[in-house]
Amino acid sequence: MDTVRNYVDGAWTEPTGTDSESVVNPATKEPLAELTYSSPDDLDRAVEVGNEAFEEWRETPVEERIQPLFRFKQLLEDHQEELAETLVSEHGKTKGEAMGELRRGIENVEVACGIPTMMQGGHVSNAAPNIDETGVRTPLGTFVAVTPFNFPGMIPLWFLPYAVATGNSFVLKPSERDPLVAERMFELLDEAGFPDGVVNLVHGGADAVNELITHEGVAGVSFVGSTPVAKHVYETAAAAGKRVQAQGGAKNHVLVSDSADVDFAAEKTLSSACACAGERCLANDVVLVHESVYDEFSQRLVELADEMTVGYGLDDVDMGALITPEHEQRVRAFVEDAMEGGADLLRDGRDVTVEGYPDGNFLGPTIFGDVGEEMAISREEVFGPIVALDSYDSFDDAIARLNRSEFGNAASLFTGSGAEARTFRHDAEAGNLAVNAGTAAPMAFFHFGGRKASFFGDLHAQADDVVRFYTDETVYIERWPDQ
Ligand code: NAD
Repeated sequence: MDTVRNYVDGAWTEPTGTDSESVVNPATKEPLAELTYSSPDDLDRAVEVGNEAFEEWRETPVEERIQPLFRFKQLLEDHQEELAETLVSEHGKTKGEAMGELRRGIENVEVACGIPTMMQGGHVSNAAPNIDETGVRTPLGTFVAVTPFNFPGMIPLWFLPYAVATGNSFVLKPSERDPLVAERMFELLDEAGFPDGVVNLVHGGADAVNELITHEGVAGVSFVGSTPVAKHVYETAAAAGKRVQAQGGAKNHVLVSDSADVDFAAEKTLSSACACAGERCLANDVVLVHESVYDEFSQRLVELADEMTVGYGLDDVDMGALITPEHEQRVRAFVEDAMEGGADLLRDGRDVTVEGYPDGNFLGPTIFGDVGEEMAISREEVFGPIVALDSYDSFDDAIARLNRSEFGNAASLFTGSGAEARTFRHDAEAGNLAVNAGTAAPMAFFHFGGRKASFFGDLHAQADDVVRFYTDETVYIERWPDQ
């Protein structure tokens, strides 16, 4: 079986830690690779070579720094299909979802190729008598990114292209559950021709993360994962003097107004909640529906869910597998809890069977009605294909319920009313908002929002925010007295 390798200083090496685990296909249960964790020495070396490479890389003209990114973008496109298949095999989502995820990642590479413009600072002539002032954006050193399992092809690309285009070095620690797509992307980075040490890949679990985020050679940390870990990373890395941006978990609400196109809202809501088997931080899985259209909406949602096929992501199916058996059990426990709490089970996805893959981590779309605000499926992140419906009679009350959520990642509204849309845009406390669109996923040229327990820090992933995160702006003040 293959072993997963680190990529450090332009060379592939075997991690030398003591712990290890298997990477397993969540649908077929085929073991795919063996992953050994990195030792502290492995991690030290990655940071060390990052800092050595930084000295020359920061002096490399910006036009030259983006040339490997152009090549990387082309390589990603040339290999998108093959990367998608690797992604499906280790993650469990469908091939269409994997292709879409990679497209979103490639968009970030494209945007980062605009760094010569994006990292320009400001200038004011005569800021004071005979004095000119200029803001000069400078890179800071070696940045670390720690990423989650659910978008292993896209999320590293929320960070890597911007970090290196601005002149920093970069160390990625991907999720230990599905590291193979990252490994393949680093083969493509190698081919794209970055100088040795500028981009590095290390594997490991929590210990590796804790080592990296407090390492004296690390300038800053980009993190994406669950809220408790995001909070821990934010606090620990900040206490060690690092810049930190830490994106956490979510519980996203969707409001369906009496003026909404009900069929359209049902279709988009189901795809938002069940895409990637619900393992998405942007999944809208609490659905508050105006009481006058509640029955029509919930009936339509169930009809659409009945049409969905579940199976192996490389087959022609609408929904794939959950990442691990443990996670599947956790999601099933939410279903039991909701039933015990008196929620109305409108569609039960628990008995799904997939021919040919009897042991896969499968669960079909599961829909509950009359889900009170206090229930766990209303408040906690489930990360599975479970939809929680409830009705409202006052739009303001629905917004207030959304705002009582601990999380603030995303929210959507389906409406025909401009006034409701405006209230939603002003009052909904989430960082990514969508009106008449299922999922509030920002394009790469906007930052990826997030508030409350969904984000710890100031500057988010993607676009201008991440450019500011990876640079510091020196203020340069000049006065040249007349001779
Ligand atoms: P996770 O928090 O378990 O793991 C994320 C990363 O942190 C992994 O690389 C893992 O190795 C590391 N890690 C895990 N436990 C750790 C610990 N105790 N100390 C230090 N590091 C640790 O998250 P996951 O299960 O891989 O991913 C799913 C979560 O990510 C969900 O909560 C989801 O909402 C969130 N997510 C958020 C966004 C966003 O943009 N806000 C995007 C994608 C996923």
